[in-house]
Amino acid sequence: MTLVPFDDRDGVIWLDGAFAPWREARLHVLSHGLHYGGGVFEGVRVYGGRLFKSAEHALRLHASAQELNFRIPFTAAELDAAARETVRRQGISDGYVRPVAWRGSEQISVSGTGARVHVAIAAWEWPHVFSAASQDQGIRLKTSRWRRPSPDTAPVRAKAASLYNIGTLARDEAEAAGYDDALLLDFRGYVAEATGANLFLVVDGALHTPIADTFLNGITRQTVIALARESGIAVHERRIQPEELARADEVFLTGTAYEVQPVRAVDDRPYGVGRTTTALADAYRRLVRAADPLPSADRVGADAPDGRR
Ligand code: PMP
Repeated sequence: MTLVPFDDRDGVIWLDGAFAPWREARLHVLSHGLHYGGGVFEGVRVYGGRLFKSAEHALRLHASAQELNFRIPFTAAELDAAARETVRRQGISDGYVRPVAWRGSEQISVSGTGARVHVAIAAWEWPHVFSAASQDQGIRLKTSRWRRPSPDTAPVRAKAASLYNIGTLARDEAEAAGYDDALLLDFRGYVAEATGANLFLVVDGALHTPIADTFLNGITRQTVIALARESGIAVHERRIQPEELARADEVFLTGTAYEVQPVRAVDDRPYGVGRTTTALADAYRRLVRAADPLPSADRVGADAPDGRR
């Protein structure tokens, strides 16, 4: 597969309220967001030209910014509309949308006060994170030495760029050891999440998932919990010790990009892809591709001039 660098593609990126040619959507090297991690972002999926839960993601971008003490100069509704328009202009059918907000260049100091907040939204075709085989048979996780920090150490509930250093360190280490992703414990030693997805265990037909107090309470996590409860599957949100992984019959991850992703091993412990994971993965797949609950005029891509969806 040829990798096309993300700064060298065709199309447009929404930047601070207007569309810029893709290659010209740049920021200055002296940006607070780059030096001090003053940035938050989102990931939204597009299915058949329609954004899934775009409004929720726009609200979460605002909430994340608030956790970092900065204000995004566009309303959530404006961001939602801009994301839809970006997808339409790019002619995306099955892809991903990346809204990002960061502190600008008005000053370079730890203090963020006075730095203007910028926002960009980019979208690209991206059908799946993992190969078809990994989606069916599951991925392998390696327990990381890196941990999710305490809520009084970092803004753990925000989708904050600075927190992803932990994920990058953990993920690179796991991949170097031949695994697909890392499992992170939290600062107390409880099971937390993967580097870009939340974690569920299936024990005797019920779901067990860690309380989201040191990591993002994923929109997919909440969606899957609702789907499970609707179909009569019990869900227990609780503190989970790493030793309990030995009692799990199935393990899976949830995330916008990962969707419902089976796990076939944690360290050297293998898991099968069981009935519960498969049923929830199917239910999630059906939900994201279900008829758009919005009026058809809002269907992204429905009127794409070149006929692409
Ligand atoms: N945890 C982390 C660290 C993530 O990056 C993501 C992906 N946004 C998630 C959990 C899952 O969140 P969501 O289901 O809202 O995508």
